[in-house]
Amino acid sequence: MRILTDADADPALLTDKRVAVVGYGSQGRAHALNLRDSGADVVVGLRPGAQSGDRARADGFRPTPVADAAAGADIVALLAPDETHGAIYRDELASVLEPGATLLFAHGLAIHYRLIEPRPDLDVVMAAPKGPGRAVRSEYEARRGLPALIAVAQDTSGHARATALSYACALGAGRAAVLETSFAEECEADLFNEQAVLWGAVPELITAGYDTLVHAGFSPEIAYLECVTEVKLLADLLYAKGIAGMREAISNTAEFGALLGGRRMVGEDARAEMRRVLAEVKEGAPVRALLADAAAGYPRLRAS
Ligand code: NDP
Ligand code: MG
Repeated sequence: MRILTDADADPALLTDKRVAVVGYGSQGRAHALNLRDSGADVVVGLRPGAQSGDRARADGFRPTPVADAAAGADIVALLAPDETHGAIYRDELASVLEPGATLLFAHGLAIHYRLIEPRPDLDVVMAAPKGPGRAVRSEYEARRGLPALIAVAQDTSGHARATALSYACALGAGRAAVLETSFAEECEADLFNEQAVLWGAVPELITAGYDTLVHAGFSPEIAYLECVTEVKLLADLLYAKGIAGMREAISNTAEFGALLGGRRMVGEDARAEMRRVLAEVKEGAPVRALLADAAAGYPRLRAS
């Protein structure tokens, strides 16, 4: 896969362009600040009475209602929670977006699962930093960047890809790496990973390990150090050296333990379950469940 950087991008596609950032949360704040520092003309759109309005004002923006921000914008970045995108597009954006404007996402969900059917005259693109907004901002300020994915769902202008690349570079990603993907690939891989590896399986494995030790009479402090704190050690080694390099760096005792326990804990059953999770993600069940939970006021999310 070819890795794109600042050298591949045309910054002029962003300079002095009006970018409406909708939502001022994790991604919204980082995008708004980085884009402004990169020379774009940024306006922030929020719902009336938004809690995040004070923060936006403290950062020097004058938040306006979403429709007002979007009217006249060359690019509208939809950075509110994914489950709100359908209603925001339908109620605030569809009738006010400029002809030929670019609708931009940091995640493929709303387009891939058809929460939004964008107007055919629009360019529809993704620029998705691979990390939380806080890191998108702090890396930019340190003159580095977080890697990002770009994708094009609809290219009416003929330069949708170039716009997405310039936007990703304005976030700082071109100083690190920009990778090209599709809305489907980004979205399905992300939803799969959330459940099967990162936020679902890994914390559950950690908790189960901790519980096993404590229930067997080990002190909670020792169990915590072993099962929780040392995850940082693993993550740092993995990030710096990859799986094989990580194995090289640990003691022979630890490496032998890995050999004995790894496939025992995550064997064929777990892999079969992962394939089922992936099939569900492709079919759309987790997104339907999220939308139903949101419509009911998030009872499942709140109980978690
Ligand atoms: P947040 O939950 O942090 O953002 C919430 C923001 O959206 C707040 O400013 C909130 O305003 C506003 N908002 C909520 N509902 C509405 C609405 N109906 N109309 C207008 N504004 C609204 O979101 P994230 O930054 O986490 O996610 C934004 C996008 O970025 C998503 O597509 C997500 O998948 C993607 N993404 C997120 C990453 C992350 O690490 N967080 C990483 C990569 C991509 P209020 O103050 O009114 O609540
Ligand atoms: Mg993810």
